[in-house]
Amino acid sequence: MDFALSDEQRAIRDTARDFIAREVMPLEQELLRRERAHRPGLERGELRDLQLKARTFGFWGLATPEEYGGMDLPAITQSLIWTEIGRSYVPFRFGGEADNILFKANEEQRREFLLPTIEGERLSCFAITEPGAGSDAANIKLSARRDGGDWVLNGEKTFITGGHDADFAIVIAVTDPEKGARRGGATAFLVDRAMGWRSEFIQTMGEGGPAALVFEDVRVPERNILGEIGQGFTLGMEWIGKGRYTIPSHAIGIAERALRMAIDQANTRETFGRPIGENQAIQWMIADSETELEAARWLVLRAAWTVDQGMDPRHASSMCKLYAAGMVNRVVDRVLQIHGGMGYTRELPIERWYRQVRLYRIFEGTDEMQRLILSRDLLRGYTKIGGHLA
Ligand SMILES: Cc1cc2nc3c(=O)[nH]c(=O)nc-3n(C[C@H](O)[C@H](O)[C@H](O)COP(=O)(O)OP(=O)(O)OC[C@H]3O[C@@H](n4cnc5c(N)ncnc54)[C@H](O)[C@@H]3O)c2cc1C
Repeated sequence: MDFALSDEQRAIRDTARDFIAREVMPLEQELLRRERAHRPGLERGELRDLQLKARTFGFWGLATPEEYGGMDLPAITQSLIWTEIGRSYVPFRFGGEADNILFKANEEQRREFLLPTIEGERLSCFAITEPGAGSDAANIKLSARRDGGDWVLNGEKTFITGGHDADFAIVIAVTDPEKGARRGGATAFLVDRAMGWRSEFIQTMGEGGPAALVFEDVRVPERNILGEIGQGFTLGMEWIGKGRYTIPSHAIGIAERALRMAIDQANTRETFGRPIGENQAIQWMIADSETELEAARWLVLRAAWTVDQGMDPRHASSMCKLYAAGMVNRVVDRVLQIHGGMGYTRELPIERWYRQVRLYRIFEGTDEMQRLILSRDLLRGYTKIGGHLA
């Protein structure tokens, strides 16, 4: 058993680390200033400029196949890079990416949707959640009714990340209510904003925010079906599956950076004539945080390894999503506590992380849904205790 990174993994990780430290972190103070003034922390154009700069260092399309100019990196390397991205609270991500399921596009859709998305010329969003169907995603109701050569969409999606800025939406709609979404009754559509859906921004406790998408008799041509008719639910689950190791990887970067801040604070802040780090209460918070962080790191790397091995990653991914989301919430809470009143101010990024990471326990499958999957797998004998080593 080898717990070391390969030379290549280390080199890519270190280059990403340098880029984030040199180009992204210097923007942090300005980001906090802008957000305090209720302005976007990073404009779309600024993100694009950073992405183009990163491209000159070779970072373009971490998961994108080489035939589209991407890096097509193994999941473990992607996970390491997402951890580096997580170290900065600037909402940066490398460019050259597209939703994983968009690669199912046919030739025409490739030109119209996939390639411009990879190039950053068009923004997509993915929409499955509805006001009446979140965890219970198979209960979606947004309907697509065939009318001549078109489909007519009616209904509402909600909490759609990037939905207020997107140029097009990947919408999972019910095409056969008799069958139900899970049994071939749902289909994925590529729907341009110009086709007539509208978005309403949703205020959340985090910066930025998702949107509700409203479809009233939105006419979509048959050629805009992504994949096959009836494949929508499967594609939706495939889209969600990707986030189950990238979100935890990001969480690890946040927790590492926050814990570093807590250690510095514990060594320098003095009360009663000595650094607060000399108190066991503070020491234990630091020790528990490091232990949980390390446990999350290995769960995430194991899930990514499972992907790279071509094994079914769902059980491992649910475990790392559940644990890392909880871990980052506990670590950030302790780091805030160690900073006392300053931790609660908007001068420091800690309260921002505190608001941001609360979401990690909710989106792409809540804690409870991950537990449901994990316990079901064990109760029905789909997996063994001890995973691939069992
Ligand atoms: C900021 C943000 C961004 C998002 N981005 C997207 C996006 O881009 N695209 C998209 O489609 N969706 C997106 N979502 C939606 C997200 O995936 C859902 O919010 C999530 O799946 C939970 O669904 P819900 O909010 O309807 O909660 P519900 O499903 O109503 O659940 C409410 C509570 O009940 C619990 N619960 C539900 N059923 C059970 C059960 N059987 N047993 C035990 N507990 C249960 C849940 O865990 C939760 O705690 C986003 C959400 C947010 C907040």
